[in-house]
Amino acid sequence: MKTKWVEEINVFQKPSRLVNWRIGLVYPNSYSVGMSGLSVKLLYHLLNQHQNIYTERIFNPKEKTVVPVSLETQTTLHRFNILAFSFQFELDYINAIKMLQLSKIPLYTKDRTNTHPLLIAGGPAVTANPRPIFNFFDFVFVGEFESVADRFLNSIYDSRETTIHDSITEIPGFYHSENYNDYVTPVVTDSLDSVKYPTAQVRPLYSEPQKKGSLDGYFLQVSRGCPHGCHYCLIGKLFRPHRERNIENLKQLIEKGSIETQSDYFSLIGSSTADYSEIGDLISYFLEKRLRFTLPSIRVDSGEEILSLIAQSGQKSLTIAPEAGAENTRYSIGKRITNSQIFSFASQANTFGISQLKTYFILGLTSDVENEVKSISELMNTLKLKNSNMKFNVSVTPLIPKKGTKLEKQKVDYASISEGTKLLKGNLNQKLNFKAFPTRWAAIQAIISLGGKELSSIMEEVAIQNGSYQSWKRVLGMEPAQYYQEKICD
Ligand code: SF4
Repeated sequence: MKTKWVEEINVFQKPSRLVNWRIGLVYPNSYSVGMSGLSVKLLYHLLNQHQNIYTERIFNPKEKTVVPVSLETQTTLHRFNILAFSFQFELDYINAIKMLQLSKIPLYTKDRTNTHPLLIAGGPAVTANPRPIFNFFDFVFVGEFESVADRFLNSIYDSRETTIHDSITEIPGFYHSENYNDYVTPVVTDSLDSVKYPTAQVRPLYSEPQKKGSLDGYFLQVSRGCPHGCHYCLIGKLFRPHRERNIENLKQLIEKGSIETQSDYFSLIGSSTADYSEIGDLISYFLEKRLRFTLPSIRVDSGEEILSLIAQSGQKSLTIAPEAGAENTRYSIGKRITNSQIFSFASQANTFGISQLKTYFILGLTSDVENEVKSISELMNTLKLKNSNMKFNVSVTPLIPKKGTKLEKQKVDYASISEGTKLLKGNLNQKLNFKAFPTRWAAIQAIISLGGKELSSIMEEVAIQNGSYQSWKRVLGMEPAQYYQEKICD
């Protein structure tokens, strides 16, 4: 189907005479960001399982003043009965507010009536801390939606506009500001094998090969949650326990998925896919069927056999996340990996013909950023020295403490991290590719991830003033890093 922007396959179309309820699935970021993740594809599929309920996708338009419309029928937001927002990142809250402002939908729940759409927010950012957006949304959903998808659809189908609020209140995982408290736990799916998973996934069709990449192929989720409990990480904390899809189920999904999504390319999804208990069998199955795949990241203790299978698939690049250069820092955040494991992993990968290693680090895990910088540069410069023929990418992110994690109370000094990032760039071997997440935006993200309802009016004003860094600074009345220190940490 050719939508307004792009040609896609597996787009849902429903005759309007059959449709009683219309849901706008809003991803408040660009089409390419939304479609390179699993959440939009999965929710789009789940929310279209009822023939009388039609769900369409809405992304943030590229042009800042354009009124957002759905991809499928170019419908504006106010014409939907329900708007379901998916938030992967806190910074998308500002985009969502701008989308509502441009659509002339009152931002605050108290200002809307039942002539307006019902607004629901979900996703990891909301599951971790919904407080900053409670004033805007009728409901927040805390957890994994599959577990209640059928109940949600049946209950809205059986409701009228005047009763829908009461119906949704009954469904586990849905909260509003009056019934939410600190003891709420996310609803999670008991068994991944017993819930629906899309085999006909919506995806763009590109005729030009250079445009292929993260949007291409079939997204295969092998597991949920994580068996490791790194102290800064939301996934290991919120989405418990760690669950895996059965290997036979995965093989069926691969078989059907390759036909219905028309692709021989599979992106394996999961926080720690190389930990999947049958990973060897799974890779062997891809090789046997001559299907291509990518693993998002790999643990350095995955073992030689897995590396050899990955190399046989033709994959040339791997991603690891040491997070810190020093072993004691790594151990202190629950990441039990030694430097010698990293060295031997890189040299084995090199032997198997892997030509590129992407590495991820966090700055601000301790109060001594300078020392963190020193150990990261020592580790990476030694890795390059030992494997001079390999390409290395070094990505650095400032710590963004998340609500509910063990590092929630860590006081991050963003000014030192900003200095440390520059120092690291200078200390690293110039043949290493270096990329850093901007520290000032990390401070804003930390404010939102830990803040409360007081942020509603702040975010509203920031969105009115275009959402730039300068507008945050103006509205907060100080540098965001200072606001974080003074108002959030104390
Ligand atoms: S950082 Fe990775 S390995 Fe650690 S808990 Fe999170 S998902 Fe698991």
